[in-house]
Amino acid sequence: MTRRIVVKIGSSSIVNSDLSINKQVMISLMKSFALLKEKGIEVALVSSGAIATGMHELNLKKKPSMMSLKQACAAVGQAKLMEEYNKSAAYYDLLTGQILVSHDDFQVRKRMLFLSNTLDEMFKNGIIPIINENDALAVEEIKVGDNDTLASLIAPMIHADLVILFSDVDGLYDKNPKTEKDAKLISDIYDINEVIDFGKGSNSSVGTGGMQTKIQSAIMASSIGCDLIICNSKYIDKLVDICLGEKIGSYFHKQEKTISSREHWIIYKTNSLGALIVDEGCKKILETSDKKVSILAKGILRVDGSFLKDAVIDIRSEDGKVLGKGISKYNSNEIDKIKGLDSKAINELGYKYSYVIHANDVVLFKK
Ligand code: GLU
Repeated sequence: MTRRIVVKIGSSSIVNSDLSINKQVMISLMKSFALLKEKGIEVALVSSGAIATGMHELNLKKKPSMMSLKQACAAVGQAKLMEEYNKSAAYYDLLTGQILVSHDDFQVRKRMLFLSNTLDEMFKNGIIPIINENDALAVEEIKVGDNDTLASLIAPMIHADLVILFSDVDGLYDKNPKTEKDAKLISDIYDINEVIDFGKGSNSSVGTGGMQTKIQSAIMASSIGCDLIICNSKYIDKLVDICLGEKIGSYFHKQEKTISSREHWIIYKTNSLGALIVDEGCKKILETSDKKVSILAKGILRVDGSFLKDAVIDIRSEDGKVLGKGISKYNSNEIDKIKGLDSKAINELGYKYSYVIHANDVVLFKK
């Protein structure tokens, strides 16, 4: 039975075609949230629409290309969105709170803890978190980028068992439904690898995400043991039924073999700050071993980038293939000194560990 869900609503669903806020959708969401609350199901809402709403307020017809103007739109639009959300929530006696994040809030573990504590406290007090990217301040380098991904970054933090992505599409099709008449909706997905290429080329005219970001979001959610549904926002008033098991849209079933939250953090929440280039022998072990393996200094040919100890870095082969990611025990200067050496030589240089990434801190990309 579902206990906690993340609902994501896309820009094209929360604003009308003239970019004004679709108040009907907001009311519908809050009505469903109130009913879910009665059933003991807690919700976090990831809402897009800040930039679109800001464009409406500033009377802009086209999405600005200038970053600072987009940010100004977000500043205006986010406040306006929350004003309307609060009005709709009050109608059903609900309390909402705004959380604005950027990629750093996930990348830096301490900040992630603060975010997690705040969300916990909000749930304890019956507050519905309304989450968006901090678009007014976030620049490209520190952006999560799209709210489909953001929804699945939030999911493990609040121990959600279901993510629902509401947008202007009915779900995942085997072909592009806009151009191919015989495209079929896929209602159940058990193995994401089989559908991974289906969303290529799709895009949204108002929001940031397309089908690719939704599939990526499904990969992230299902790997941590969370189901995910892609559904058309015209079914928002069916939200309660969906949570109780009614099948609408495309249902990505959680994987049986899930990864730990530490592995989830390494893969999805961090940007690599550098790389280790490993030799053929090490590459072979990483590609074939079923067990967890440490990255020994002996198998390292080169270190790329300048980073501190505990940084997350890529593990690459000489031909440029990324084999995995991990947390470095040494800084980049130290690795440069001990690369290629065995444990005796490493100890003689005054260093303690013969590995650069411990097995528990390595995540391998086998597929
Ligand atoms: N954060 C953006 C906004 O609120 C939307 C991002 C997205 O469409 O995924 O305008």
